[in-house]
Amino acid sequence: MYRIGLGYDVHAFAGGRDLILGGVLIPYERGLLGHSDADVVAHALADACLGALRAGDIGELFPDTDPAFEGANSIELLRRVGDLVRERGWRVHDADCVIVAQEPKLSKYRDLMRENLAGALGIRIDALGLKATTTEHLGFEGRKEGIAAQAVVLLVDCH
Ligand code: MG
Repeated sequence: MYRIGLGYDVHAFAGGRDLILGGVLIPYERGLLGHSDADVVAHALADACLGALRAGDIGELFPDTDPAFEGANSIELLRRVGDLVRERGWRVHDADCVIVAQEPKLSKYRDLMRENLAGALGIRIDALGLKATTTEHLGFEGRKEGIAAQAVVLLVDCH
């Protein structure tokens, strides 16, 4: 009747790229490197849904060898994962996400990111939590080499 899913993703910083997190363009000196727009939290959330669905992962669904997904808007990819959840007879009941970044400060973009991510999954904004943390300068996130994100979802059986 319930299933849980866990998602994790990492992208490295690179110059000359926009920083897109939760579908929001965040002003920063660098962006994240990736075949798509490298929206690391959208990817983690999509993978959490696919994990709960037992439907593989986003690398399988949207291969980075496929030119169709070059520069892809990850909120659109997440929307497609949300559609798949419904097609398979499940509903996203609740979700929570963490973005791990030493920089930039993300608190003022939090509700906008929640709105975009929840909207893509077709759920209410209060069904999706999101927070950001630093790692106190430890590890690759702390050295500002990249950003990581984690997400969990709870699916409810609608069959
Ligand atoms: Mg990714």
